[in-house]
Amino acid sequence: MTNPAENRYATIVAGAGPAGVLAAMHASDRGPVLLADSSSLPRSKSCGGMLHELSLETLRPYGEIPESIVSAPRTVHFRYNDWDRRIERTTDLAFLNVSRSGFDDWLVGLLPDTVEIAERAALTGFTQDDAGVTVDLRTPEGIRTVSADLLIGADGARSQVRRTLGIRDSASYVTLQDFVELDGDIEPVFDCIYMRDIGDEFGYAYVVPKGDVAIVGSVFYPRTKRPWEKQDRVIELLRERIPQLGPSRERESAAALYLRSPKDILHGSGRVLLAGEAGGFMSPTSGEGISYALRTGRDAGLAAAGSPATALARYTELTAPVVSDIRRRFRWLPLMESRAGKYLAGFVPTPIVSRVTMGL
Ligand SMILES: Cc1cc2nc3c(=O)[nH]c(=O)nc-3n(C[C@H](O)[C@H](O)[C@H](O)COP(=O)(O)OP(=O)(O)OC[C@H]3O[C@@H](n4cnc5c(N)ncnc54)[C@H](O)[C@@H]3O)c2cc1C
Repeated sequence: MTNPAENRYATIVAGAGPAGVLAAMHASDRGPVLLADSSSLPRSKSCGGMLHELSLETLRPYGEIPESIVSAPRTVHFRYNDWDRRIERTTDLAFLNVSRSGFDDWLVGLLPDTVEIAERAALTGFTQDDAGVTVDLRTPEGIRTVSADLLIGADGARSQVRRTLGIRDSASYVTLQDFVELDGDIEPVFDCIYMRDIGDEFGYAYVVPKGDVAIVGSVFYPRTKRPWEKQDRVIELLRERIPQLGPSRERESAAALYLRSPKDILHGSGRVLLAGEAGGFMSPTSGEGISYALRTGRDAGLAAAGSPATALARYTELTAPVVSDIRRRFRWLPLMESRAGKYLAGFVPTPIVSRVTMGL
């Protein structure tokens, strides 16, 4: 027989990404936390591994980022490219280049002992009332039922917590990333490339040097047909201009939020808080999401460390600066996605492109 006390926590967090780890860390100030992730840890998350200054600033109180997770070249500057109009603008926007799996693993290692980690434990559903939440986790041993005063859903772009709340899922971009072998050095920049050759379903491609490989990624609009074939074509075109790009070692696919309006942002409901991509927190213009996951995860954890009855209100208050930052970015979206916006970019001097990019 299971001991009911063993299955009762102060807070349950679903998802051990950056949002879930910081949420669990701070929530543990009020009592035991269960951090459940559907994957085995360390997990593998499809990502460029570019840490924005906002991520670095948020991480400062938690210690130094270990050198062992930093990739070469250490710093990369964002470069805007429009191949159709032969525009190239290297900006002042700089990122720390890291191994994403190393970064996620380092974060998990910061957790105190009061956080119990359950790997391969997928939240399949939950119920809630005024006293708290009861959560079902699918584990290799069968369904485990656990309860807590609060649940924090930090389970990413396809959040099961969000869906169980009855809130519609946002549409998702389709992203593909290849790890391409390098035959010689490429420029130490984070290239973002717009081109029409791939068709209207294609958003943009990016190239990031990462040690002895380059990550070559493409972002396609929701419901793109045959994205794998389109990614083959993207790589072919890139190889014509960047001959150092060799064969692909590996390809991965993922979903990224396709945010259309501030209505896509949701803090949660009752005893359930949503953090990171699960709550719609990321940059709608650049796709940068780690800094939003870190900040909202931290805020959800701080709110959960106080009274459970007022946690959602407190969380909404704490995340006000992040929400106004996302709202501001939404204003740029129509211009960025339009042909006119891309056309105008051709006439804007580099220092202005640089300044605008800093805010996207
Ligand atoms: C191709 C690609 C490249 C990107 N590159 C960058 C970049 O360079 N820089 C940047 O800042 N951002 C980047 N992003 C965005 C960034 O990766 C995300 O915004 C960030 O990881 C969100 O963190 P999170 O904690 O909210 O969710 P995630 O990191 O997605 O973590 C969610 C976790 O929840 C777990 N989970 C899912 N369902 C369940 C369930 N039912 N029960 C329990 N656990 C569950 C998953 O296994 C996962 O571990 C990129 C995204 C993509 C797709």
